[in-house]
Amino acid sequence: MELIDLHTHSTASDGSFAPREVVRLAREGGLRAMALTDHDTIEGLAEAIAAGAEYGVEVIPGVEISAFFPGGTMHILGLFIDYTDGLLDKRLAVLKQARADRNPQIVAKLNGLGIPITMEQVRRLSGGGQVGRPHIARALLEGGYIRSFPEAFDKFLGNRGPAYVEKFRFPPKEAIAMIREAGGIPALSHPFTLDLGSAYALKNLLIELKDLGLAGIEVFYSDHTPEQMALYLKLARELGLLITGGSDFHGQNKPEVTLGTMPCQSKLTYELVEALKAWREEQGSGVRG
Ligand SMILES: [Zn+2]
Ligand SMILES: [Zn+2]
Repeated sequence: MELIDLHTHSTASDGSFAPREVVRLAREGGLRAMALTDHDTIEGLAEAIAAGAEYGVEVIPGVEISAFFPGGTMHILGLFIDYTDGLLDKRLAVLKQARADRNPQIVAKLNGLGIPITMEQVRRLSGGGQVGRPHIARALLEGGYIRSFPEAFDKFLGNRGPAYVEKFRFPPKEAIAMIREAGGIPALSHPFTLDLGSAYALKNLLIELKDLGLAGIEVFYSDHTPEQMALYLKLARELGLLITGGSDFHGQNKPEVTLGTMPCQSKLTYELVEALKAWREEQGSGVRG
């Protein structure tokens, strides 16, 4: 069986391994293909694709865009995107600026709470990649203000925490359109984080998103229960959505998840990649509508 992973992160966003290292670990995990899907950036893709050629792993260029969805977290994966034409990069630069503005605001709030961490410290802990809350959490840990990584989010950084700062996000319609414009396949990540509460509500939302151009749904995922996977599979079939899946590997920033070993790994076979490719071919040039 040829296994795959269509959802991974590197130091280009909030993963702990460089793109090249993620590909090496995919090789070690016995994967034939993997997608690098960093949050709101395609900066790691060139390195990952070069490493893929070297290690004999098919690297699918991807991205994971955070979309605005009140009450829950909506992430949209873009698979097989064209990362070389500069178009998507330009759109994502808006998010990069918003993120750059957000971190100092969080640090200022922490300072206001009597915690004297600095942006320099946070930047150093990011190892040169995208700076975000995980790096602020590490600074808190380093300073002894918390005892564990999750505590940073529970006590300060989570969306109910006193140092939370609202994040700019594209509306789902725009996130989907950006991926389509870059020739990619938009797929809804980990549907349970939408916090919809019922299968009926999820189905209705998927119908709406499909009208906006959504083409797939992440059925297999490291944190999905068997019941969730069965539901998402059923909805994918009913609505004619492509099936994707992956671990959401973040390296040491999510140490319980490793490449090639997720509980439902046997479901993630190369046939899913073939179905994605067949869909793209069917769309032909129309995919860039
Ligand atoms: Zn996600
Ligand atoms: Zn992810």
